[in-house]
Amino acid sequence: MTARIIDGRARAAALREQVGTHARAFAAAAGRPAGLAVVLVGEDAASAVYVRSKERATEAAGMRGQVHRLPADATQGSLLELVERLNADAGVDGILVQLPLPPHMDADAVIAAIDPDKDVDGFHPVNAGRLATGLPGFVPCTPLGCLMLLREELGDLSGLDAVVIGRSNIVGKPMAQLLIADSCTVTVAHSRTRDLEGVVGRADIVVAAVGRARMIRGEWLKPGATVIDVGINRLPDGSLAGDVDFASAVQVARAITPVPGGVGPMTIACLLRNALMAAHRREGMTPPAGL
Ligand code: NAD
Repeated sequence: MTARIIDGRARAAALREQVGTHARAFAAAAGRPAGLAVVLVGEDAASAVYVRSKERATEAAGMRGQVHRLPADATQGSLLELVERLNADAGVDGILVQLPLPPHMDADAVIAAIDPDKDVDGFHPVNAGRLATGLPGFVPCTPLGCLMLLREELGDLSGLDAVVIGRSNIVGKPMAQLLIADSCTVTVAHSRTRDLEGVVGRADIVVAAVGRARMIRGEWLKPGATVIDVGINRLPDGSLAGDVDFASAVQVARAITPVPGGVGPMTIACLLRNALMAAHRREGMTPPAGL
């Protein structure tokens, strides 16, 4: 068996197109574009690249993107002040503080300061609670993108055995919540899991979010499993690899996301989608269906 390669770039492009259509309709109806504010603290090169691509994608989708840059030695107080200003700004529908923050800052306190109804990253404890209890809120972009790819590949996920490898607040935990909500039987594996190979071998769906290049081997997989590889790992030669050993997994899986070109592009598309949803809710308008 050779797995189908799940084309995250194409799926993300289609989603961005859809968001763009709805964003233009929103701007016409509301008399203003949907607005997304991104806050970048410091000079981290990778973060600067992410922020630039978020800004470009926001403008391309017909929304207003604004980037607020603070120096690496900015105080926590100045960052909280900026967040408060954005909370109060009627033209800002979504606020995203690019992580990681410099070590002298408390990321949890900064996230908690964002208005939950503008928290398009879905990291605020209120939105984590909404997700856990099945209330409408914002779902973190990377797991949301993974869920969209899985639904498109498999249709109804009900009753399937899923393993999520990794338990971070950003990917692993919300991914598990989304799969539970879609009626999967979910196992969350992590660094203390005793028999990772055995757990992976029973799963119809494998979502890997660890950050260790090629640690999940194709031989571990149940034949016909669907594999979503969230990991982004830089190899010594400068190329990128996922957490799954693609060459061996592609021989066993039914479908698999590549790295790059799988989950990554979905993350930004889902951010735009969340910002558009926020704009609709803030204007008291019904959010577009099917996004
Ligand atoms: P994290 O470091 O916060 O969490 C890693 C998790 O992996 C932890 O919960 C840990 O328990 C688990 N883990 C560590 N070693 C393990 C082992 N040997 N066996 C099983 N589990 C183990 O990382 P994160 O923020 O969740 O990100 C995970 C990966 O996903 C990283 O490579 C990151 O770059 C990538 N990522 C990609 C996107 C995207 O848009 N594609 C977005 C976010 C994160």
